[in-house]
Amino acid sequence: MNRFEGKVVLITGAASGIGAACVRRLWEEGASVGVADHNNGGLDKLVTELSDEARVYGATLDVSDGEQVESFVAGAKRKFGNLHGLINCAGIKGVGNVLDCEAENWRKVMSVNLDGTFLMCQAFSRAVQHDKTSRAIVNVSSGAGIMGVPNRLPYVASKFAVSGITRTMGAELGPYGIRVNAIAPGMIRTPFTAYMFDDPEKAKRIRAAHAIGREGQPEEIAAVATFLLTDDASFMTGAVISVDGGQTACIPAV
Ligand code: NAP
Repeated sequence: MNRFEGKVVLITGAASGIGAACVRRLWEEGASVGVADHNNGGLDKLVTELSDEARVYGATLDVSDGEQVESFVAGAKRKFGNLHGLINCAGIKGVGNVLDCEAENWRKVMSVNLDGTFLMCQAFSRAVQHDKTSRAIVNVSSGAGIMGVPNRLPYVASKFAVSGITRTMGAELGPYGIRVNAIAPGMIRTPFTAYMFDDPEKAKRIRAAHAIGREGQPEEIAAVATFLLTDDASFMTGAVISVDGGQTACIPAV
């Protein structure tokens, strides 16, 4: 399939995990990509792998820095002309509970996961608001943006907020023809979660928490993210889609 021939999609968190899987999927389907991450080495490796300078614009940035975000979006627009899609994957873990979470930790997690998503959405929307082509945004929330998770308080707060701003921006940007949706992944095997699988007992518990009995792969998130950018999803906006093997589908019977 070449669903993205002539289309330009920006992806943050592109150097690793879900972001990298999105880049590869879009690339295979013909897109030009603007790839951003603060992991310089990982980003360089990805850009080298793609090996067609005409179809790639790369930038090392911190998504929580508004100026860097604006400069990335402006640079991609200068290079490609029109922009059609944005996938916000950059994110960090957030451990801590209501009794022990330090303000600095709280602010760091919110600044990357929430501010970063907001800033990218704002810069992208401003850049494309008057365009006539179809445009769409996909944010990456989490099962922790749908249900509480003890001792992950800052992460949960940031992901509930991502789900909330996605719904609100869907309403705000509908009149401009810009669709905004979010994906709420279950446990996905990436460098973000790799350490959890080192302990076989924990790995067993993780798999048992998903109705289909296993963790997900980043390509399974990329498949839904790319679908949400296509016109097959033309009537979808403001939605938060669980892609989680049934992890948040029901409360276990007791
Ligand atoms: P990942 O493999 O760690 O990839 C995230 C990428 O974002 C990394 O390259 C990371 O760089 C980069 N990044 C972190 N902070 C950044 C910043 N301030 N500015 C720019 N880039 C930054 O994680 P992933 O598993 O693909 O997760 C992607 C998204 O999915 C995250 O938002 C995560 O919360 C969400 N998610 C993941 C899972 C899961 O099970 N994996 C489940 C639900 C939701 P460094 O590695 O250098 O920090």
